Amino acid sequence: MTASDDVATPGPARWSWSRDETRAFGRRVADLIAEYLADLPDGPVFRPVPPELAAAFETKPLPLAGEPADALLDAFASAVAPYPFGNGHPRFHGWVNPPPHVLGVMASALAAAMNPSVAGGNHASVHVEHQVLRWFRELAGFPETSRGLLVSGGSMATLTALAVARHRAAAGAGIDVRAEGLQGHARRFVAYQGEGAHGCVRKAVELLGLGAGSLRTVPSDAEGRIRADALREALARDLADGAVPVALVASVGTVSTGAIDPLDELADLCAEHGVWLHVDGAYGGAAALLLERYADVRAAMGRADSLALDPHKWLYVPVDAGLVLIRDGSAARDAFSLVPPYLRTDDDPHGVNGPVWFSEYGFEQTRPFRALKVWLMLRYFGVEGYRALVEHDIAMAERLAGAVRAQPELELLARGLSIVSFRYVPAGYRARPAVADPDLDALNRRLLTAVQVGGRSFLSGAVVDGAFALRACFVNPGTREEDVDALVAEVVAVGRRVA
Ligand SMILES: *Cc1c(COP(=O)(O)O)cnc(C)c1O
Repeated sequence: MTASDDVATPGPARWSWSRDETRAFGRRVADLIAEYLADLPDGPVFRPVPPELAAAFETKPLPLAGEPADALLDAFASAVAPYPFGNGHPRFHGWVNPPPHVLGVMASALAAAMNPSVAGGNHASVHVEHQVLRWFRELAGFPETSRGLLVSGGSMATLTALAVARHRAAAGAGIDVRAEGLQGHARRFVAYQGEGAHGCVRKAVELLGLGAGSLRTVPSDAEGRIRADALREALARDLADGAVPVALVASVGTVSTGAIDPLDELADLCAEHGVWLHVDGAYGGAAALLLERYADVRAAMGRADSLALDPHKWLYVPVDAGLVLIRDGSAARDAFSLVPPYLRTDDDPHGVNGPVWFSEYGFEQTRPFRALKVWLMLRYFGVEGYRALVEHDIAMAERLAGAVRAQPELELLARGLSIVSFRYVPAGYRARPAVADPDLDALNRRLLTAVQVGGRSFLSGAVVDGAFALRACFVNPGTREEDVDALVAEVVAVGRRVA
C-alpha cells in the first residue's frame, strides 16, 4: 500500500504507517519506556497530580482536529509519566501492586499488534492460552478435565467461579438458575467467607443475586484463618433452616495479613456437605504453587472446586491478568454457554473453530491476548526463576518484621507471606499489646497519610483484629534491604513528628 492509497484525513493522522515510521515511533516509545523504568527509583515514590494538571485533564475538550503522533508522546512524557500510582518504585509497598517486568511490557505491545479476539478459533493465541492454562493446571494439581480462563483479575476469577458454583447449587435444588434466576424460590442461597476475605467475594455474591445478607462471615482464629468448627456450626444452622449453600471462599493469602486458611480441613467439610470450595489465591497462590515449604497448601489447593490466581499480582505480569481454574469443566460450560448442549461441537483441531471456544466458559466474548505476557514471562523466568523472585520478596518481609520487633516504638500486629502489618506506638505510651485503641488508630492513620504524601516510602493501611495497622506488602524484586531499612526509619521519624 502506498500513501496515495490511504484514506484521506484532514489532520496529520494517516491510517497507514510505513515500516520506517512504525520503527521510528517505536524507538521513541522504547526510549520512553526505558527512561521511565530506569528513572523511577530516583523520583519520589508518589506525588499527587498537581491541581493545575488535574484541571487541565478535566477541561481539555474532545479533539476535533487530530494531533501529530510525536506531540502525543511529548504529552505522555510531560503530563502522564511523571505521576504514576507509585508501584514499580523499590520503596512502594502498598496493596498488592508489583512492578511490571520489561518483558511483560513489551509482550503487551506484541499482543496488541496481533490484536486477536481470543474468544476462540484456530489461531496461535488460543493455543498459547491453552498452554498457559495447562501449566497452571499442572502446578495446581487440577485434573485434565478441569477448565481455565485468563480473566481481568482475581475479582473476575472469583465472580466466574462463583457463577458456576451458583449454577451447580441451584441445579441441585431443582432450579434452572439460567432460566429463572433466583426469583421467587422459597429456599435461601447462602455463601461463606472468612473475616479476611477480599471485597470481591461480597461484590460477586451481590452481583449473582444472593444478596450480601446471605454471605456468612465465618469467625477466624488468632492467626486470621477460618475456624473450621465455626464453619461447621454455620453450615449446620443454614442446612437446618433449609438454605442451599452455594460456596465457601477460602483464602491463600488474605489481603490484610497474608493468612492461609486451613484448606484441608475446610475441603473435608465442604466434601461432607457437598459445598463448592473456591480458593482465592489472587495474592498468595503464586507462592503456594512455587515454594516447597507450601507443598501441603499446594496439595490442598488441588482439592478445590475452583481456584482464583492473579498473574498480575505476585507473578509480576502487567495488568491485566487474572486466572481461574474450575475443576468440573463441563459445569463451567453449562453455566455460561449459549450453545445448547445438542448443538455443541467438540474440539476442531484442524479446522477454523479450533478448541472449544473460551467464550463458552465465561462472560467475556471478545477476549484480549492476555496469555502472551504470561507465556513469555513464565518461559523467561521458569518456575525456578520465579521461586527466587518470590523468595526475595518474602525475605524483605522477614527483614521488616525483624526490624519492627527490634524497634521499641513499633509493634508487630500480623505477619504472613510477604505482608507485614504493624503500628507505631509512641515511646512511653501504655498500649495493650495488639489491642485496638482509638488514639493509636487515629495516630497511625495520620502517620500513614504523612508517609504516603511524603514520597519517601509508600505503605497502605489495614485493620487487624479491629486495630488500624500500617501494612507493607513486598512484591518487588527491585526492593533492596536498604529500602526496607529506609521504610523503618521513615515510619519512626514521621511517627515522632505526628505523635
Ligand atoms: C487483589 C486481590 C483480589 C482481587 O483481584 P483483582 O485482580 O484486583 O481483581 C482478590 N483477592 C485477593 C486476596 C487479592 O489480593
